[in-house]
Amino acid sequence: MAAFEITILSGKGGTGKTSVSAAFARLAERAVICDLDVDASDLPLLLRPEVKESHVFESGVVAHLDTVRCRSCGLCVTWCRFDAFSEDADGVVLDPDRCEGCGVCAHFCPSGAVTMQPRICGSWFRSETGYGPMMHARLDPGQENSGKLIALLRQEAARLAAERGIPLILGDGPPGIGCPAISAVGGTGFVVLVTEPTPSGLADLVRAADLCAHFDRPAGIIINKADLAPARAAEIEDLAASRGLPVLARLPFAEGAMRALVEGRSLLDLPETAPALHGAWEALCGHALRGVSR
Ligand code: SF4
Ligand code: SF4
Repeated sequence: MAAFEITILSGKGGTGKTSVSAAFARLAERAVICDLDVDASDLPLLLRPEVKESHVFESGVVAHLDTVRCRSCGLCVTWCRFDAFSEDADGVVLDPDRCEGCGVCAHFCPSGAVTMQPRICGSWFRSETGYGPMMHARLDPGQENSGKLIALLRQEAARLAAERGIPLILGDGPPGIGCPAISAVGGTGFVVLVTEPTPSGLADLVRAADLCAHFDRPAGIIINKADLAPARAAEIEDLAASRGLPVLARLPFAEGAMRALVEGRSLLDLPETAPALHGAWEALCGHALRGVSR
């Protein structure tokens, strides 16, 4: 049977999503942990994985200039609409960061000096942590295609889970509701939405809940720092009730949380947050099991 997948999302960054993911990774015991926040991969900072395999992530193509074959005719400078080619005292120069991969220069170059080659956009890794295997990645600065990289990580996580007979995949998703979040949510078994009781937290939660509804994915909510703004937390609970979304936990604010995370400890090590996280995990397992039997 394919592993059940739980994806942890937040409508925005900074809600404590990754800290919650790290705590769940510890509670899960048997899971493939997957860091799907490939633009700003933070989960490895908390789980300290040991990299076992490293792979290049290629996506799309980029122009490559062979300066030996180039006759400096300047045609590519004229044809490239993205100003990737320029001329200086030594001849024609290509800036690959400006290249959009359209292939026009390679088509028109009279001397075959330009070829289109796979674009290297980052790396992805299979690692081991103290809590189980982990898939994670790093997208190079300025590179796009994070959705494609997330799809690749999920596919590799599923393959690894099947190979080792691991029943669960736990994904720490990207923030927001754009292409990366869409790539993380489609087809997952259950989504945990981590939010905080602020006006922007509520607004972003609505959008994230809309995303789950659009893809018909069951979801539940964790309200982080719920005690800091009880009225706003109550608004989130009203929203959850109106959408039929269970509130899995109301995590209290813990003053020592940041220091604990920097020191390599978990929210599970703090007396303020540990009970609510254990409760959230139990509730989550109950909902996930219902998802399996759907
Ligand atoms: S079109 Fe080809 S030969 Fe002409 S300048 Fe560009 S790379 Fe060189
Ligand atoms: S592939 Fe297109 S965008 Fe890239 S350098 Fe050639 S003409 Fe410019």
